Amino acid sequence: MTDIADNISSIRRRMAQAAERAGRDPRQVQLVAVTKTVGVAQIREAMQAGVDILGENRLQEAEAKFAEIGQQVKWHLIGHLQTNKVNPALAIFDMIHSLDSLHLAQALNRRTAGRRVACLLEVNLGGEETKYGVAPQEVCDTLRQLDKLENLEIQGLMVIPPYTEDPEASRPYFRQLARLAQEGNNLSLENINLRHLSMGMSHDFEVAIEEGATMVRIGTAIFGPRR
Ligand SMILES: *Cc1c(COP(=O)(O)O)cnc(C)c1O
Repeated sequence: MTDIADNISSIRRRMAQAAERAGRDPRQVQLVAVTKTVGVAQIREAMQAGVDILGENRLQEAEAKFAEIGQQVKWHLIGHLQTNKVNPALAIFDMIHSLDSLHLAQALNRRTAGRRVACLLEVNLGGEETKYGVAPQEVCDTLRQLDKLENLEIQGLMVIPPYTEDPEASRPYFRQLARLAQEGNNLSLENINLRHLSMGMSHDFEVAIEEGATMVRIGTAIFGPRR
């Protein structure tokens, strides 16, 4: 086995164990392999090892890789999207984890060309100025507005908590995101069913799964440190 295949199999094992600790079905948790800065040869190794969702945070970089890899995998956008890049993004991405403003949602909704686009609302739980996303106290109001955008399918919430080495420090943020999703579902909006929680990265994905993550976004633990 290559290092990458080896890493993936150990991550999958740890994912399953975390799910079982929480009394969850491991099949409820999807691995999004974060491939920013990673070359196509390495991505293909990950695909050989069963990876079927790639997470990219920059449109331009994703476009170059998409030209080579195409639709053998699902492409998920996990980084900020400018409203003037909506069209090329829609040509590639199957899901937008980083729907971070109503403004972006409206721009997407205008240009989906008939399909319903799967999105997750990004929440800035740490209140960090350097991060995108809506504030937790705005989530319910934003969902009410998003409910009216008929070309978007809001499937859940996403968070990037403030970085710390200690995975336990992320737990309160993950728990809060799960609670916000519950509140959102309690609004009983016609077009919104929050069933996904995109949370957990290389250093804290097990804690995220214990708190209900359905998608973990993992880069370094698969491909090694980024340059
Ligand atoms: C880079 C990135 C990740 C992956 O981080 P790792 O620590 O390398 O696993 C996850 N989510 C987002 C939004 C990212 O930008």
